[in-house]
Amino acid sequence: MDKKRRALLNGLGLSLASLPFTSSLSLAEHHAKYKGKKLGIALVGLGRYANRIADGLVNSQFWNLNGIVTGSPEKIPAWKEKWKLKDSNIFNYDNYDQLINAKDIDVVYICLPNSMHADFTIRAAKAGKHVICEKPMAVSVKEAEDMIAACDRAGVKLAIGYRLHFNPYHQKIIEWSQQKTFGNIGYVDGVFSINVGPAGQWRLDKKLAGGGSLMDVGIYCVQAARYATQEEPLSVTAQFGPITDREKFKEVENGISWQLKFPSGAYSTGYSAYQNYIDTLTVGTEQKTFSLSPAYSYGPLKSSVFGGDNSGFSFPFKHHQQTQMEAMGPLFLSKDPLPDHISGLEGLKDMKILMAIYKAARNGKPVKI
Ligand code: NDP
Repeated sequence: MDKKRRALLNGLGLSLASLPFTSSLSLAEHHAKYKGKKLGIALVGLGRYANRIADGLVNSQFWNLNGIVTGSPEKIPAWKEKWKLKDSNIFNYDNYDQLINAKDIDVVYICLPNSMHADFTIRAAKAGKHVICEKPMAVSVKEAEDMIAACDRAGVKLAIGYRLHFNPYHQKIIEWSQQKTFGNIGYVDGVFSINVGPAGQWRLDKKLAGGGSLMDVGIYCVQAARYATQEEPLSVTAQFGPITDREKFKEVENGISWQLKFPSGAYSTGYSAYQNYIDTLTVGTEQKTFSLSPAYSYGPLKSSVFGGDNSGFSFPFKHHQQTQMEAMGPLFLSKDPLPDHISGLEGLKDMKILMAIYKAARNGKPVKI
């Protein structure tokens, strides 16, 4: 790849891993001077994460926030004023299917509780809209498969909001793994734990969340193990952590740890919890060991290298959601299918592993994936 093309890719927040990039528009057309028609996007579920995505859409070269879907009428005036929304582009969960009539909405971005992702993705597909769905993609493998099938049937794209695919630290790890820059990757350890807050919220409700810390934050560690090794795990063992608060954790797990075996012999350990703040990724190669902490949160991420300095593994801060959305713009403008690792297929792979981790923890035996 020549230097100019690499610089263009970097400017778009795209990595070698996102190739092949065979858009009908050239890379140069996608670059900062893009002047074509923007994509209209509607945010579905106006909670904390939708607000972050909206921040990332300010002054976007590819996106106009043209619509919202909310069950909270009191949120509407502020969004309407800030984004100059038309009344006809403001929906609730009942009249959501009327999106079909909103010609200036091309894509919906689903930021709802996890168990609502499948229904709202499938309904969007039926309304002819492309979908970006937050992680975890769904609460079961079957739901994830149904979402992919519905989008395929409708001829719309389905992406999962894996923002770290567009982050330079994580892209660098992928590049080193693909190119074996420091030899084979033998070991990956990921820990992501957050203090979830009080009882009574959807994250602690099994029906809405599908599970506990694993579904919410452990998924980042599973993702990292997969892209750092560039392999799919063969089997898993797992253990639930202690129940520290019977009121809060009566339906979903607080802590859970797991161990994944990969075909090359690479091994990955992971832990997620809803208790303390821990946010680390360690990748052991034959020559050096790379660590990030913070590794998965909104940053700035911070690196260290055992066996060398961290030059080449230190990047200026970039707003995660803005970087993701600017990188996704050209992918949705293009007539080509999304690269697999941006698409629903990536979410489905993770769902299979998350479900296998739960099964292994419940049964106390290794589970083949
Ligand atoms: P919030 O609780 O902050 O927001 C969820 C929103 O969904 C609510 O504000 C509400 O919006 C709507 N909603 C509809 N039905 C319900 C219900 N029964 N209970 C609660 N809310 C409901 O959650 P987050 O924004 O933190 O998370 C939303 C999704 O985004 C999750 O899937 C989560 O995993 C993902 N996420 C991803 C992150 C990332 O970095 N990629 C980070 C954080 C979250 P309204 O009032 O408008 O109806």
